[in-house]
Amino acid sequence: MGDTGLDRREMLRLLGAGALAALAGGVLPASAAAGQDFERAKGPGLIFVVGDGMPAGVTRAMHEVRTRVFGRPDSAYYSRLRNAGSSVGLMATQSLSSIVTDSAPASVAWSTGVKTANRYLAVLPDGRPLTTIFELVKPRGVATGLVTTTRVTHATPAAWVSHQPHRDAEDEIAAELLAFRPDVLLGGGRNHFDAKTRKDGRDLLAAFAQAGYECVSGRAGLKAATGGKSLFGVFAGSHLAYYLDRLNDPSLAAQPSLPEMTAAALRRLSANPGGFLLQVEAGRIDHASHSNDAWSAIMDTVELDDTLAVIDAFLAANPQTLVLVTSDHGNSGWGVNGTGPNYNDATAALTSYRAGTASFEALIKKMKGKGAAEVRELVSGATGYAIGAEDAERVVRAMQPGYALTTGDYVYQPDATLGQILAHSAYPKNGPATIRRGNVGFTSCNHTAEDMTLLAYGHKAKELGLDRLVDNTALFKTMCGYFGVSHKNPSMTLAEARPHLLAQIPADPRLHIA
Ligand SMILES: [Zn+2]
Repeated sequence: MGDTGLDRREMLRLLGAGALAALAGGVLPASAAAGQDFERAKGPGLIFVVGDGMPAGVTRAMHEVRTRVFGRPDSAYYSRLRNAGSSVGLMATQSLSSIVTDSAPASVAWSTGVKTANRYLAVLPDGRPLTTIFELVKPRGVATGLVTTTRVTHATPAAWVSHQPHRDAEDEIAAELLAFRPDVLLGGGRNHFDAKTRKDGRDLLAAFAQAGYECVSGRAGLKAATGGKSLFGVFAGSHLAYYLDRLNDPSLAAQPSLPEMTAAALRRLSANPGGFLLQVEAGRIDHASHSNDAWSAIMDTVELDDTLAVIDAFLAANPQTLVLVTSDHGNSGWGVNGTGPNYNDATAALTSYRAGTASFEALIKKMKGKGAAEVRELVSGATGYAIGAEDAERVVRAMQPGYALTTGDYVYQPDATLGQILAHSAYPKNGPATIRRGNVGFTSCNHTAEDMTLLAYGHKAKELGLDRLVDNTALFKTMCGYFGVSHKNPSMTLAEARPHLLAQIPADPRLHIA
């Protein structure tokens, strides 16, 4: 069931002959859920799925691409949203310091039930640590796991373990992950574990092996994992590559997919008699939107949907599993714009993104130091859009050191400059469209404050009271209730926190902490 993945042959058929060149030599994973037979779990489970920076605009675009471009009857996500057995609500996301949160306090709200300030992990602005759901359930015999496409030391997974006052202290967060010893830790971020790249020269890769972990490197190693021990794998120096790049660039074939990491994590965790709590994060939907890279955001959301298909297969064998699917915040005002007369070109404009074969991140690496003519060629090769000479000059200018085109306080780097150019369509008064490009519009390169969709299904999903607007802190109580623990963390008001926050930032008359 839940077979929503694509194999190589299907992908080529659905995308048409034009895709052949694009995918030649590329590695596509087999159907995400095909062949995923899970054994019966030894205890109840909770899978907390995060699409980082995944507002409704990008999930709808993913569903339309899924069904209209890839020819699938449905997406796993929308199938669950429609299902009468699911609970669907909204979640407010503001942090202690701002109505617009970053990933750190958003994930802390889930893990501790308390609001802290932007950039803070599980600690209040005055330094008091907050006890996380992982710390509460582990002593009760519940197995814990973190799986992500970002560095495992990045804010969303870190907030369930780390008590750093600044999310950027990733070397320290890596050491905290080792000290906590989750049963599964899979994602990117090797640079924060490797003695050669850590500031203090500590070899945390060796330390995880010494602590009894099965340490896997690469997709093949992950597939061959025996599952008897705790599982550790960091498959890239920094974040894993975008799904779009992993599909199209053979040099990235050793990086496992999110569905593959999730399947391996579920096999390991479900063997624990005391049950398990697993956070799974599609962490780079957010990064793509910061770059105004619509197609990469859509494709990373497709990968999240493939992951939900794997979880469907797990649920079929393990109905005693609760699944929560949500996001920590919006990003960049993500929206599919109406295009053309009476918006009738909107569908064609959205599906035309399918020509894209590389993320802006990968594309910009190739454009470094190149002139406008080469930039034009590279852009049309990677996106399927022919940009004009003037637009190519804009991109070249944006790549100069020290360049900062700002609109208000939004800085458009080369990636977002590219995003703006590609979101532009031109319709002359008379005659057909001269340019019809992808139609995802962005209002900024920053996070946004809208409420996020909160989807719950599986074990007890209808009993949790999540079918309404809740605050993000409510999910801490939900998880505590599910595992039969109760805990109240200390909290602060903004007035109490303000002096601590002001003491941490350099004096700047432009800053307001309202
Ligand atoms: Zn985030």
